[in-house]
Amino acid sequence: MKIDIKSMLPEELEASFSEIREPKYRAKQVFTWLGKGAVSFDEMSNLPKSLRNTLNERYYITVPKVIRKQVSKIDGTIKYLWELSDGNAVETVVMTYRHGNTVCISTQVGCRQGCAFCASTIGGLVRNLEPSEMLDEVLFSQIDSGLDISNIVLMGIGEPLDNFDNVVKFLKLVNHPDGLNIGMRHISLSTCGLTEKIDKLAQLNLQLTLSISLHAPDDETRTKIMPVNRGRGVDELIAACKRYYERTGRRISFEYAMIDGVNDTPFHARLLAEKAKEAGAHVNLIPLNYVEERKFKPSSRENLEKFVKILENCGVNTTVRRKLGGDVDASCGQLRRRAAKTTAEN
Ligand code: SAH
Repeated sequence: MKIDIKSMLPEELEASFSEIREPKYRAKQVFTWLGKGAVSFDEMSNLPKSLRNTLNERYYITVPKVIRKQVSKIDGTIKYLWELSDGNAVETVVMTYRHGNTVCISTQVGCRQGCAFCASTIGGLVRNLEPSEMLDEVLFSQIDSGLDISNIVLMGIGEPLDNFDNVVKFLKLVNHPDGLNIGMRHISLSTCGLTEKIDKLAQLNLQLTLSISLHAPDDETRTKIMPVNRGRGVDELIAACKRYYERTGRRISFEYAMIDGVNDTPFHARLLAEKAKEAGAHVNLIPLNYVEERKFKPSSRENLEKFVKILENCGVNTTVRRKLGGDVDASCGQLRRRAAKTTAEN
């Protein structure tokens, strides 16, 4: 069995290379090549030929294939569908802003959280992504688009905290000074609220931005649309957010998709304001995106405006998310796994 070399940190490479009696500096050379998007050992021209052959026998380099690339005519947002080495497919979105380019990556093939409004969970979880595969989403989006990526959001397909160890390894890889060197403060991780994993993440004190997909401030509404709320509850989640903030000093952000007649009444706004203040959180309202298979509708503009006013009157820091990539179905919650085969036919 060959080893997935792009999932290894330099110190792990050093340890692995010592087994084949290679000096430490070779690990740094190989790590640097991989961070530049090398697709074979043969192109690593500063390594002796004999070493390149040995590496070829012991390790493999993951290389995703672009199955489909769509570019929004409205705002230039790019959506990639990649084929992974086992034939599975995931999506990555590149958003261009004046202050820099952001890549939105998937962390799993599918998702098992079952949120009622989200397309990514239809069909359940297929498998976790490896650290190398998440790194490839950033690396090859950058190479293919020619855009410098300065920010990463873990807000694509999958629940990042449900793939905890691989996600943390990916964060260390992408943050490494000899690799892509993207600062933790330029990375946001979004979770549906696995409280025990939020505590585990807090212990690592990574300085990234944590977003919580709250979507409802009361148990009755939240349990209806987010099965993860069962057995945990909103208060347990808010308590975990407070602990996270205390431990890391990093302010949390609440994601809140406005769903017509479900979570958009003044009652919800007032209770949300209370919870946000308790957790010291900022609120990011998202107009619900239309998903064909789901029965939900976005809130009216009038309800959205009323909702914002209540939050602001309560002194809560609130933003309304701008919609990007609308014409290529690249907006929040619209990414979903499709068999590589069916999509290639489209
Ligand atoms: N599983 C993680 C990461 C996904 S991030 C999480 O739940 O946070 C994707 C974000 O888009 C989440 O906040 C999710 O709740 C939200 N979302 C899902 N479906 C949506 C839809 N139809 N419209 C707007 N936002 C949606």
